[in-house]
Amino acid sequence: MSWTANKVFNNGKDFVDWLDKNYGSYVSSSISRVHVHHTYKPDHSNNQPTVDLHRNMRNYHVNTNGWQDVAQHITIGKDGKIVLGRNITMMPASATGYNGTSASHPFMFETIGNFDKGNDILGGSQLDSVLAVCHYIHVTKGKPCVFHRECLINGKAPKTCPGSGLDKSKFMTQVKAYKGKAPSSGTVSAPNTETKPATVSKPKRTWTKVTGNWTGQTLGIGEYGAPVKQLQTMLANNKPPYYPNKGAKNNGVDSYYGDDTEDAVRRFQSMNGLTADGMAGKATYAKLNGKSTSAPAKSTPKKASIKVDGYWGAATTKALQRYFGTPVDGKISKPSPMVKALQALVGVTADGYLGPDTYKAMQRRFKTPVDGKVSNPSVMVKELQRRLNAGKL
Ligand SMILES: [Zn+2]
Repeated sequence: MSWTANKVFNNGKDFVDWLDKNYGSYVSSSISRVHVHHTYKPDHSNNQPTVDLHRNMRNYHVNTNGWQDVAQHITIGKDGKIVLGRNITMMPASATGYNGTSASHPFMFETIGNFDKGNDILGGSQLDSVLAVCHYIHVTKGKPCVFHRECLINGKAPKTCPGSGLDKSKFMTQVKAYKGKAPSSGTVSAPNTETKPATVSKPKRTWTKVTGNWTGQTLGIGEYGAPVKQLQTMLANNKPPYYPNKGAKNNGVDSYYGDDTEDAVRRFQSMNGLTADGMAGKATYAKLNGKSTSAPAKSTPKKASIKVDGYWGAATTKALQRYFGTPVDGKISKPSPMVKALQALVGVTADGYLGPDTYKAMQRRFKTPVDGKVSNPSVMVKELQRRLNAGKL
């Protein structure tokens, strides 16, 4: 049966069974991770049926914001009911710079409630459904489970989402231990006193072998082999070290790219001004080697003197190239080192290709209307030109 907007499932188990049957292979091939959110508003004080709250969100997004669809793939109500939203085969509008591509993107859900400390408690049937979904994607399918607040923008958490009351490591322990029913104690709120998270056994994961020398080809969770070991060794030998697991044998350098390695990569990236996606690619490789491909220019950039006309031509590209200290030829290669530096500055994946995500992030930074498009002339480009002339983006 196909994805039908507003279809309701009574609980997480029913939904996961259905999802696995109808979209199991799609999740394996095209879902990169699961993104966890809370709605903040509406919260648990709202007693409308989950499907109505979901419909309201959808109407708001489509009619008020003019979006194509609701942002999330599913909504999880306080009663644990799950309502289908945006088709799973579409990229979500989950977190700026972290929405993936149509070929590989996160699965995004909104949990109705405000789970910031001192507000709603995630427990009971709702927690059960949340754990069922995360367990399926993280443990059964071996994909990372990511809180919205881990999707850093310019090295900073965009929000507390899914709530400052949710402790990530405790949450992950519950996801891994989930066996078709949530613990009766319910809540995953942060404990009042610091307690050590229980040791959990590694989830069963299918490992994909990678070979050769690591020279910056992208490595990610679920891979093992010599290149992963090289990456782990570089992380451990870095000053300061980013051990995959300081408490483990050989500091966790074991050739397996699991949660610990992903976490180490993410910490390294966020401390070095890279997009903290937990995947080790060219930019991470270059930084670990002490080279910089995407950091903002070190010296004070010179002020440009270009026409402020809103048209992005060779003069604007040259000014950007000078600003970032990349080769100056007025052309945008694919990928382009200048675009990479620009992307690192505005906090999106630094892949060197200009696209709607980069434009949106620029529009947000420049406080011009956010539509992910560049018209001719464009107010965003005008602001870009103004800032280049002022020598400060
Ligand atoms: Zn969120």
